[in-house]
Amino acid sequence: MGVMEPGDGRPARQPASPGPGGMPPGEFREWGHQLVDWVAGYLENLERHPVLAEVEPGWVRGGLAAEAPVRGEPMESLLEDFRSVVLPGITHWNHPAFFAYFAVSGSGPGILGELLAAALNVNAMVWKASPAATELEQVTLDWLRGFLGLPPGFTGTINDTASISTFHALAAARERRLPEARVPGLSGARPGRVYATPETHSSILKAVRALGLGRDGLRVVATGPERGMDPAALARTIDQDVASGFRPLAVVATIGTTSVTAVDPVGEIADVAAAHELWLHVDAAYAGPAAALPRMRRHFRGWERADSIVINPHKWLFTPIDCSVLYVRDPGALHAAFSLTPAYLETGEEGVRHNMDLGLALGHRFRALKLWMVMRYFGQEGLRAILDHHLGLARLLAGMVDAAPGWERWRPAPFSLVVLRHSPPGVAVSQRDAANLEIMHRVNAGGTAFLSHTEIDGEVWLRVAIGNIHTMERHVHSTWAALLEAAEPDATATSN
Ligand SMILES: *Cc1c(COP(=O)(O)O)cnc(C)c1O
Repeated sequence: MGVMEPGDGRPARQPASPGPGGMPPGEFREWGHQLVDWVAGYLENLERHPVLAEVEPGWVRGGLAAEAPVRGEPMESLLEDFRSVVLPGITHWNHPAFFAYFAVSGSGPGILGELLAAALNVNAMVWKASPAATELEQVTLDWLRGFLGLPPGFTGTINDTASISTFHALAAARERRLPEARVPGLSGARPGRVYATPETHSSILKAVRALGLGRDGLRVVATGPERGMDPAALARTIDQDVASGFRPLAVVATIGTTSVTAVDPVGEIADVAAAHELWLHVDAAYAGPAAALPRMRRHFRGWERADSIVINPHKWLFTPIDCSVLYVRDPGALHAAFSLTPAYLETGEEGVRHNMDLGLALGHRFRALKLWMVMRYFGQEGLRAILDHHLGLARLLAGMVDAAPGWERWRPAPFSLVVLRHSPPGVAVSQRDAANLEIMHRVNAGGTAFLSHTEIDGEVWLRVAIGNIHTMERHVHSTWAALLEAAEPDATATSN
């Protein structure tokens, strides 16, 4: 961490306000080396940091200047603020005991890929604007498709987040299923409906609203006891809507829901979607990479029949955020929704991809480079080994929870998320909920792990989401020990 510490004797050598031409190459090289060293040291010593930032709201803002500096500052002084103000306000998603939400982790090759992409700084909006960025993205997403066992015939494109990928998919669905709205807009069209369960991610409702379908545009479909969509309920809901004059547009099936990683039965949903000519969008933002393991493929049965699928390599494929992949069966549907070429962007090449035609944004970052580097560095075997390791850690934790009196676990747990709670006999539900939140706060405040919670039928459960590339068995053991310890005061209170 030497580079971040003041007084290492290095004089501030650059002119105070560098101006045209930017940072001199020699200075860039020197700081570049130092910062790569710092990053390496950071990754080596992640556990020196508390997982969760320990600052109060406003503390970071209070530590920063209110206005931009008038004269340029030497790198030393801004890195000093990075060390003393920014770092303490960081929640360390890279920390091996980050188990909240869904883990993300940037691996070495992914971080280096990000560095190269930042250096090249291309904007691959049209093919000519950087042929390699466009074509390497196509090749990498074909690799990923094959790795996940999806058949050819899906075209991939990279967005920043699953929320945007899903928005694009549903925009294509609206274009296809409500063509009469294309020119005059939605006001004269039959109101469209999108189907999903109460377990689906909030990004679905956001997309439905942003697409002008209103809050009522999302129709909630009942689930079975394991929280997967009930296909019979889907068929019934669609029939009711058709009879009432609505236009069914799309159904969103999730493989690995956010709360408990429930799996919607995609094959049966695909039958219903086909019968009603609905667009089938599959949200596998988190769980998608598990399809790389042949024994996990059964959870993905039927997803090859989808019109679109979203998978986030920035979640469980060790690629730095952001990197979300949208696969579509018919890229023409995205074109129909988004292609619109002003004269200044006409480039004349035939048969090439122009990324600007596949989504809302004109600009297109070279995100594929980091994913390509991750896939090449680890190889299919290496990536499968890490995914397998995570599934094993989840089984290990599940086994310890199951063997512990007074604890229970949500089942099934098909992926790497373990949902659990302290539930000693004879404790009222309201008291149990409060006790579990207290347990979570104690664990999180202890600095050794970071957990989040969810509600199932209004009751509190704790989530331990495994999936960070740095996580080892000992982190699972120490987190379980922290949970047991945090629960102890409650155990004595209830036995009194
Ligand atoms: C994380 C997640 C999302 C949202 O992902 P973003 O990339 O943050 O928009 C959507 N759906 C599921 C199932 C997720 O796990």
